Amino acid sequence: MLRISNIKLSLDEDENDLKQKVRKILSGEWKTFRIAKKSIDARRKNDVHMVYSVDVEVSNEEKLCKKIKNVQLITNTVYKFPNGRKFDTPIVIVGTGPAGMMCGLVLAQNGYNVILLERGKCVKERKADVERFWKSGELNSESNVQFGEGGAGTFSDGKLTTGVNDFRIRKVLEEFYAHGAPEEILYTAKPHIGTDNLYHMAENIREDIIRMGGKVCFSHKMTEIIICDGQVRGVKVQSPDGEYEIKSNHVVLAIGHSARDTFEMLRDSGLDMEQKNFSIGVRIEHLQKMINVSQYGEAHEKLGAADYKLSLHLENGRSAYTFCMCPGGQVVASASEEGGVVTNGMSNFARDGKNANSALLVNVTPDDFGSDDVLAGMYMQRDIERKAYKIGGGSYKAPAQRVGDFLGTECEETEVEPTYKPGVKWSDITEVLPAFVTDTIREALPILDRRLHGFASPDAVMTAPETRSSSPVRIIRGNENFQSNIKGVYPCGEGAGYAGGITTAAVDGIKVAEAIAGLY
Ligand SMILES: Cc1cc2nc3c(=O)[nH]c(=O)nc-3n(C[C@H](O)[C@H](O)[C@H](O)COP(=O)(O)OP(=O)(O)OC[C@H]3O[C@@H](n4cnc5c(N)ncnc54)[C@H](O)[C@@H]3O)c2cc1C
Repeated sequence: MLRISNIKLSLDEDENDLKQKVRKILSGEWKTFRIAKKSIDARRKNDVHMVYSVDVEVSNEEKLCKKIKNVQLITNTVYKFPNGRKFDTPIVIVGTGPAGMMCGLVLAQNGYNVILLERGKCVKERKADVERFWKSGELNSESNVQFGEGGAGTFSDGKLTTGVNDFRIRKVLEEFYAHGAPEEILYTAKPHIGTDNLYHMAENIREDIIRMGGKVCFSHKMTEIIICDGQVRGVKVQSPDGEYEIKSNHVVLAIGHSARDTFEMLRDSGLDMEQKNFSIGVRIEHLQKMINVSQYGEAHEKLGAADYKLSLHLENGRSAYTFCMCPGGQVVASASEEGGVVTNGMSNFARDGKNANSALLVNVTPDDFGSDDVLAGMYMQRDIERKAYKIGGGSYKAPAQRVGDFLGTECEETEVEPTYKPGVKWSDITEVLPAFVTDTIREALPILDRRLHGFASPDAVMTAPETRSSSPVRIIRGNENFQSNIKGVYPCGEGAGYAGGITTAAVDGIKVAEAIAGLY
């Protein structure tokens, strides 16, 4: 096919105008046409416009290639799973987040017998539990924003952006689209699914795995791995009908970053693990309209809710950066443990909420953990979450502070209303977070404000604490065979320390599936 890039469209033009432009460039028609990339160019506020790349199939490609600017010949590549070895026992996949789901889907698509175990509930019941928690502060520690069908990312903006470049990303996007995600994720520069679409996508993937002969078990928690002579022989499972065992020589641990009881069990079972860097901070909220103007100038009506990404390295060796920005979204209570408060963010596909939010984080290293215990980072997270619960006054209310109050700058108007449910308690966040975190945030805010006008506006709201930015531990695996020190155990995804986000977790799920099939 021919890929024609850098086609500019003004904000008043639409995709019919795009096709007109392509016809003019080709001086004729095409056999097939598809949008390959769509992005916003807002570098000059007085000339904000859209930029497209399109793929067209035409007959005289070679000749056109020489005649047209910004064109290249491309080949359509299709992901092909290796023909691998088959096994007598089923492959057990623990966790139905993006890593577990994608691993299960690809293995089932290639005729493998898979059993997916999920400690949480199916997305429909889980949604009810989460909404009850946000409304009344009644937490179900096994069915919440971290645990349940679809994993941690189900109640999210479903941003699919990643800094990783891997040929499997296309496969992930195509599977997400095939199972219900909006088509535009295949070509927009910053694709997002929206939590309202993520529910259905997770259900559709589950039904597809079952249709291909797989089993998906909800409220089934893996409580032990059965090891014999350094080889896994199965797992013990706690289910609503009691405990049972599954015989298996291949167990995928796609457990996410919040399965603290499971991490402890794995440590005590002799799995090699190591402490890992992560980040801690707050969720910061602004009016979305302020962000739109700062990013797009006056042109923003047609562009939807603007996003931003800021980062800063300070002389004290710390970094402060924004993460998981949710345009037109809300701050969400993301606890999974009794007596601990955790924040995160989400948006619906429309991103039409009044506020914008992102995590404002500071890097944390094992030097900050204060112990050599491999799970010391996890215990540090827990301590902060419990402190926040107390300072928030209980019922999972979260401590919050306006930037003006935190920086000691005058706060004349307070337009930004906090969106965290079940509610916030105005507090001093230095009582919740370690001093190196609040000191770094205090130093960073004015600097980041110069990069994004209004970022440190006095009425911006900081809700604490954001502790689960990534996993505090890595379960060690071989670079070649992806197996842990226990043969047949495959650490996978974010919890195991090999991914950060929906897309990279799903890609890691595919890599582990390939490893099981014997590609490595
Ligand atoms: C509110 C929120 C918003 C987010 N927004 C985004 C976003 O917009 N874009 C993005 O890229 N990332 C986002 N993330 C991060 C993203 O969700 C994770 O990076 C991703 O889900 C990791 O995938 P995973 O499959 O490795 O683990 P998870 O998604 O965490 O899934 C692990 C699953 O394993 C299950 N499990 C754990 N222990 C056991 C056990 N013993 N037995 C059985 N099951 C078990 C858990 O219940 C869970 O469902 C967000 C996270 C949250 C919490």
